[in-house]
Amino acid sequence: MSIIGFVKEHAENERRCSILPINVKAYIKLGATILVESGIGKSINITDSEYTDEGATVETDRASLLAKADFLMSIHALEKVDLEKTKTTVCCMSFLDPFNALEHIKWLQQSGRSALSVEMIPRSSRCQKMDALSSQASLAGYVMVAKAMSILPRIFPMMMTPAGTLKPSKVFVIGAGVAGLQAIATAKRLGAAVIAYDTREVVAEQVRSLGAKFLAIDIGETGQTDQGYAKALTPEQIEIQQQAQAECISSSDVVITTAQLFGRKPPLLIKKDVIAKMKPGSVIVDMAAENGGNVEGSVAGSIVTVEGVTVIGTGNWASEVALDASQMYANNLQALLLEFWDTETKKIVLNLEDDILQTALITHNGELINSTIKALLTQESV
Ligand code: NAD
Repeated sequence: MSIIGFVKEHAENERRCSILPINVKAYIKLGATILVESGIGKSINITDSEYTDEGATVETDRASLLAKADFLMSIHALEKVDLEKTKTTVCCMSFLDPFNALEHIKWLQQSGRSALSVEMIPRSSRCQKMDALSSQASLAGYVMVAKAMSILPRIFPMMMTPAGTLKPSKVFVIGAGVAGLQAIATAKRLGAAVIAYDTREVVAEQVRSLGAKFLAIDIGETGQTDQGYAKALTPEQIEIQQQAQAECISSSDVVITTAQLFGRKPPLLIKKDVIAKMKPGSVIVDMAAENGGNVEGSVAGSIVTVEGVTVIGTGNWASEVALDASQMYANNLQALLLEFWDTETKKIVLNLEDDILQTALITHNGELINSTIKALLTQESV
C-alpha cells in the first residue's frame, strides 16, 4: 500500500496547499494511506479534523511525516533540509523549476531520490487534467486583472450617466497563452476595451473569439514548439515588436505582460522610454517579474512606480485566490497519481516507459530521466 504524504508549504506568502478533504476521500477509496501535515489547510480555512473525517492521518511532526511517506506531494519543491529526513526511495512531486534548479537536481540524483516536476508534464490531451501549469496560470490571468483594477484610478466599463460619460478603460495584453487569454476574458467581462498581441499567429483567432482585438505586427517568421510554446525571437524581431506595440502601450490604461519562453529567460518587451509615454497613474502588471521580467524596472515581489506608472511584479498570483488554486492543483495531482495507481497492489507504480514519466520524472533511482535536463547536466559536467 502506498503511503502518500502532503506537507505544509513553507514558501513566503504561500497560501495554497496540495490537498483538500475531497481528495483524501478519493485516495482512501483507492486504498492509499494519506498523511497530511497538521495545519496544511489553515490558510484556506480548512481544519485538520476535516481531513481526518475523510480518513487521513494528521501528523503534527513534519519530520515524522517526511520519514514515513513513499510519495511526497507539495506545491513548491522540498528543500534539502526536509529531503534529508525522507526515505532515499521517496518520490517527490511538485513544481521544481528544473531549468533553474540544476544543482538541486544533481543532489537528488546522487542521493537516489526521485523527483517529478509538474511543469514538465506533457501538454497533450491525455494530460490536460494533470496540467498544473495551466490551472495556476489561468487563475493568475484573472488575478492580474483584479490587481490592476484595484490600483487604476478608473473603472473598466463605459458608463453613461447624468454626470457625464466615462470611456471604457483600455487594456493591452501581451502574450495570449493560458494566463493571457484568461486576463483578456476577465478584462472583457469587466467592460474594458481589450487589445492583445502574441507572436504565435494561431492565437489571433482565440483572442478575437473573446471579443478582443488582435494587434497585427509583421515580425517575419515566428513559430511554436510541438508542445505549443513560443519560439524565441531574434533581437531584430524583438525590436520590431517593441516599436510596433509602443503606440498601443502609451494609449493604454492597463498593460498586462505574460510573455514567456519555456525554460528560458522571458523577453524584455517594454522599456522605460515607452513607459514614460503612458498616462501617469496607468498600471502595468508584469507576470514574468520573478524570472527577469517583460518590463524594464519591474521588481519581483513588489509594486513600484516607474515614470509615474504603477508596475506590479508581485508574482505568486494564484496564491491570491488560494482556495480555488488549491482545489485545482490538488485535482491535478490526484489525476496524476490515479494515472499510475495499480488497483491490485493498491500502489503507485511508476512505469518508466510511460511518456508522462519520460518527461516529467527528472530523477529516479539515481538516474536522470528527462532527456533535456540530463543533457544540460551532462553538458555542465564536461
Ligand atoms: P507560456 O507561459 O510559455 O507563454 C505565454 C505566452 O507568451 C505564449 O502564448 C507565447 O506565445 C507568448 N510569447 C512568447 N514570447 C512573446 C513575445 N515576444 N511577445 C508576445 N507574446 C510572446 O505559454 P502557456 O500559456 O503555458 O502555453 C502556450 C500554449 O501552449 C497555449 O496557448 C496552448 O496552445 C498550448 N497548451 C496546450 C495544452 C494542451 O494541449 N494540453 C495545455 C496548455 C497549453
